Amino acid sequence: MLALQGDVREHAAALEKLGHEVVLVKRPEHFEDLAAMVLPGGESTTLSMLLDSSGVRDPLEAWVQGNRPTFGTCAGLVMLASTVEDGRSDQKTMAGLGISARRNGYGRQRFSFETLAAIPALGEPMEAVFIRAPRITSVADDTEVLATIDTDHGAEPVAVRRGNVIACSFHPELTDDTRFHALLMEIARSASGAEDH
Ligand code: GLN
Repeated sequence: MLALQGDVREHAAALEKLGHEVVLVKRPEHFEDLAAMVLPGGESTTLSMLLDSSGVRDPLEAWVQGNRPTFGTCAGLVMLASTVEDGRSDQKTMAGLGISARRNGYGRQRFSFETLAAIPALGEPMEAVFIRAPRITSVADDTEVLATIDTDHGAEPVAVRRGNVIACSFHPELTDDTRFHALLMEIARSASGAEDH
C-alpha cells in the first residue's frame, strides 16, 4: 500500500487480518512483486505533492493505467478520479475511474458522519464512516456504482469500480468490516490468474 501519508496503519491491519502480507510503498523500487495496491485516506493535495517528491507518481500512474488491482479510500478516491472539483490547481490524479470527485463535498455541517451504505454486490449494508469525504458528483458509463447512501437528493454513489480499480469515499478500514479489502484481494487473485493463461 501507498505509505507516504494518511491512515496507513488501519489499512495494513485490515489486510493482515485477512492473512495478506503488506508492503509499505514509499519509493519506486517498492513496486516489485505487488499483487494489489491500496491508496489510503489522508489529504489528497499533500499526497499529490508527496507522489512527486518521492518519485512514486510515475510507477503508480503506470500501475493504475495498467488496470492493476487498486483500492482507494477517501483521499485515495480523489487520487483515482478523472476530475477533481475544489482541489488545488496543480493537483494531479491517476484517472483510474470515470468519476468526478468534489473534495470535502458534504460541506461543513457534515464534516464527519456515519451512515449505512447499501452495497448489493457485497451483501448486507455496510457501516460507512465519512471524514471530510469527497462527494462523487458524476459517474461515467464505463464505471460501475458499487455502493450508495441515502441523502436529501436521493441515493448517491459512495463506492465505484472500473475494471480492477475500486474506490469508496468513506473509510472501511476504520470499522471491522473487511469486505472491501477482501474484494480487492479477490480482484488480485482473478487478475493474476488471467495473466497465467
Ligand atoms: N478531504 C481530504 C482530501 O480531499 C480527504 C479526507 C480523508 O481522506 N479523510 O484530500
